[in-house]
Amino acid sequence: MSAIYTTDEYGRPFIIVREQDKKSRKTGIEATKSHIMAAKTVANIVRTSLGPRGLDKILISPDGDITISNDGATIMSQMAVENQIGKLLVELSKSQDDEIGDGTTGIVVLAGALLEQAEELLDRGIHPIRISDGFEKACKIAVAHLDEVSDVIPWSKNDTSDLFKCAKTSLGSKIVNKCHDQFAQIAVDAILSDVDFELIKMEGKVGGEMADTALVHGVVIDKDFSHPQMPKEIKDAKIAILTCPFEPPKPKTKHKLDITTVKEFEELQKFERETFESMVQRVKDCGANVVACQWGFDDEANSLLLQHKLPAIRWVGGPEIELLAIATNGRIVPRFEDLSSAKLGSAGTIRELAFGTTNENMIVVEDCANSKAVTVFVRGGNKMIVDEAKRSLHDAMCVVRNLITDNRVVYGGAAAEISCSIAVEKAADQVSSIEQYAMRSFARALDAIPLALAENSGLPPIETLSYVKSQQVTEGNSRLGVDCMDTGINDMKEQFVFDPLISKRQQFLLATQLVKMILKIDDVIVHKADDQ
Ligand code: ADP
Repeated sequence: MSAIYTTDEYGRPFIIVREQDKKSRKTGIEATKSHIMAAKTVANIVRTSLGPRGLDKILISPDGDITISNDGATIMSQMAVENQIGKLLVELSKSQDDEIGDGTTGIVVLAGALLEQAEELLDRGIHPIRISDGFEKACKIAVAHLDEVSDVIPWSKNDTSDLFKCAKTSLGSKIVNKCHDQFAQIAVDAILSDVDFELIKMEGKVGGEMADTALVHGVVIDKDFSHPQMPKEIKDAKIAILTCPFEPPKPKTKHKLDITTVKEFEELQKFERETFESMVQRVKDCGANVVACQWGFDDEANSLLLQHKLPAIRWVGGPEIELLAIATNGRIVPRFEDLSSAKLGSAGTIRELAFGTTNENMIVVEDCANSKAVTVFVRGGNKMIVDEAKRSLHDAMCVVRNLITDNRVVYGGAAAEISCSIAVEKAADQVSSIEQYAMRSFARALDAIPLALAENSGLPPIETLSYVKSQQVTEGNSRLGVDCMDTGINDMKEQFVFDPLISKRQQFLLATQLVKMILKIDDVIVHKADDQ
């Protein structure tokens, strides 16, 4: 038994006695196998989401929030995975998402398949370290082979047709497939607008149709003008961006205020009003014709603003304030006294958008001084659809961004995986050591991708794989893949199904790295949570 001295929330000391038998321990192959089991279970969940015909998952959080998604990283992040090794797969998907933004389902399926193969090798008595080495060797060969089979996507600012096709492939499996062309075009336009990726903002509003989704060259703020009678559109806007309160001075409740007569009360009111009026005048003197404020202001201030013809937007959130300042080349003013004309932002128009019969409005700031601000404004029938549409667009934008950085691609529909599998298999024949088994297993793990794609598209998996594989070998054509959409053509170049080379390479490297790591763990000591 061990004891821990600690203190409770009031600082009183107490002792926790922990019993040894609450500690569970697994070692050696048994531990490795139990990890593989856990990881495979997690991987199997997203397997059916892979590919253009992959199914969506519905995830319900403990609070009852519903997410419908086809995106590997989203599904993984919303699953309440308890097992530590399962969590590593969640992390794997996330790192692919962070670095590449696409291919998050594929990477988990590949890692799961590699682990499954590793399990068989362990059963055959091969030491985990030898398996690791074999996988490492095979991965190197596969990655080198990817370079060989890669192709270049030509693009220029004037000819973005191929970028468009790649974006479309990425959207293929997503909920948005009705608006493919439009979404792909938005993704291409957003990326080519020369904006830092992080500054491309996604704003969604429930209502309308998905086809109403648009790219706004400016900033969209989910607010309206503070008074309904204020003008709905301001041309040549000069905007004061305030993070300080903008309202009449209010007596603070902490201080005692002696008002005994009506006159005194009226004087106080007058003072408040006059002070605010002078503040409004000050804003106008600087040349501003609209105010955005992080704080709210009450009805009295609001009507004074209306009277003095100074339209205002209140409760603008922190990140939006920042975006607004960047877009309009304005400066955020944290102290009212610091306001000056040099700090104002400018925009061609600031207008309020109304949505049908609802009283929900949004403010669109366009033709900004800093032309680089863009916002993708997503519409959809309900929150789940809007959220998934946002995620799909994000993935498509990542694909386009990746191609602009490196325009090499490999062919999709698992053509690249099949070709690498053949290459690794061939290389294994040249290896005389025990690693050859692991290399062959690696090749089989790569086959899991075409198998899953075929299965998810309602094709017989094994027949499809053997057919395409033999076709690739006999025709010497590495562009042949699984014809998921049943077009009758399985040359992926003709179908325009590409995956960025860096995405595929990263999938291979990260999945192998993770599997090697899991194979190295041979001892797990779990302290079970105390029952009380
Ligand atoms: P991920 O989250 O890994 O990107 P997806 O569900 O988007 O997963 O599926 C991507 C896989 O589907 C890739 O292997 C890609 O090559 C393949 N794919 C996409 N569109 C098609 C298509 N029209 N025909 C065949 N395969 C496709």
